[in-house]
Amino acid sequence: MSGLPAGRHFFRGDDGYEAARSATVWHARVPERYPEVIVQAVDADDIIAGLHYAKSNGHNVSIVSGGHSFAASHLRDGAVLLDVSRLNHATIDVEKSRAVVGPGKGGSLLMADLQEQGLFFPGGHCKGVCLGGYLLQGGYGWNSRIYGPACESVIGVDVVTADGEQIHCNEDNHADLYWAARGAGSGFFGVVTSYHLKLYPRPAVCGTSAYLYPFELADEVYTWARSIGAEVDPRVELQAVASRGEPTMGIESPVISFASPAFADSEEEAEKALAIFGSCPVADKALVKIPYMPTDLPTWYDIAMTHYLSDHYYAVDNMWTSASAADLLPGIRNILDTMPPHPAHFLWLNWGPVPRRQDMAYSVEDDIYLALYGSWKDPADEAKYADWAQSNMAAMSHLASGIQLADENLGRRPARFASDEAMARLDEVRAAYDPDGLFNSWMGRL
Ligand SMILES: Cc1cc2nc3c(=O)[nH]c(=O)nc-3n(C[C@H](O)[C@H](O)[C@H](O)COP(=O)(O)OP(=O)(O)OC[C@H]3O[C@@H](n4cnc5c(N)ncnc54)[C@H](O)[C@@H]3O)c2cc1C
Repeated sequence: MSGLPAGRHFFRGDDGYEAARSATVWHARVPERYPEVIVQAVDADDIIAGLHYAKSNGHNVSIVSGGHSFAASHLRDGAVLLDVSRLNHATIDVEKSRAVVGPGKGGSLLMADLQEQGLFFPGGHCKGVCLGGYLLQGGYGWNSRIYGPACESVIGVDVVTADGEQIHCNEDNHADLYWAARGAGSGFFGVVTSYHLKLYPRPAVCGTSAYLYPFELADEVYTWARSIGAEVDPRVELQAVASRGEPTMGIESPVISFASPAFADSEEEAEKALAIFGSCPVADKALVKIPYMPTDLPTWYDIAMTHYLSDHYYAVDNMWTSASAADLLPGIRNILDTMPPHPAHFLWLNWGPVPRRQDMAYSVEDDIYLALYGSWKDPADEAKYADWAQSNMAAMSHLASGIQLADENLGRRPARFASDEAMARLDEVRAAYDPDGLFNSWMGRL
């Protein structure tokens, strides 16, 4: 007897194993890495049974919640894979502005629940991303320039540890583990069963502006975007998405889309915050120019999802930087010249100036975030496009201060994602909570 939950586990070779394995990866590029057994946990007892089986049989353990790690970091040969996507509970306390949510709860679903109750959380920008992985790695969400990475709004975490103990950690209790859970990402050494979240009042208005420029104006628009960094109202996410087409606007030629939401108390305030987009020196050459339109979060989720198609293969990479536009432009030109067809895209995000953060494992960020999302639909195009993101980021790595774990590619290109002090402390805390190295860690590190 394995002791694993009956009807909810699949050994390699079992009927249903491959369906259970591929269901843990959101896109078509399911890596050739095969866990020994997949346990579809519905509660902490199932998790504890999985941990016990792993220890008794000499396996490592991986965990998956929403399976939106682009690299499918949870798929490891020979591991016990704990699929906790079914732990998707959410209890919202409106009066106290608090929520307790399971790791399998989709961020967009939580946002919808909260919106109905006049509340808000810096949830991620896409449907399907679950809080399990999102909060561990930081969490760049709606209005995150105001609230900080979402992990700053995690006030407690329920964890099953390597020895099968169920603990609650916060700043007073198991404070080291709480510190690690906010930034360790796929290197976390415990199974999160609930997050305790701080919530915010729902902003009254979500306004949007949209300016779309042809690739030929890249030098002008990125130079301008870099120059206004410190002036951008923190309620505005200044992001530019470059792609070989923008179907939401009916455009089939290569465009750089500056389409940004602003969350504010009134339309006037949102419009004022977004007025900065009109200051681009080539604004009059924009293919589309919408200084302001009222929008809402459901519309934004739909727009975001046009870039992430689950029947496509994805390979991503990224970097933080504070380099000048002049230094960045040669690399950016190459990114644009070599970009695969839509929905592949290049994201530029004005994130800084970065304020002082809480003390947590999350410790690397910078003025500008650049991320490349390579994608293709025909598996035969793998050789043509799979290296686009990685090779372009490698070529610009001398300008990088680090990477985000959100779009990590550590298995292929190890890079810095936490400060040296944070990495040393993560190793210490891991040694205390997982001395035998039961949990698999990042697929690569410097
Ligand atoms: C389409 C798309 C859009 C995205 N948009 C954003 C965005 O707007 N902002 C942002 O910050 N990120 C974004 N991301 C990145 C995303 O937040 C991360 O990949 C995150 O890890 C996904 O969480 P998940 O639970 O869905 O993924 P998973 O693949 O399930 O989790 C990633 C890793 O986290 C660990 N983990 C997951 N659950 C647990 C648990 N319960 N206990 C312990 N460890 C666990 C595991 O090591 C796992 O390999 C996006 C990704 C995609 C694919």
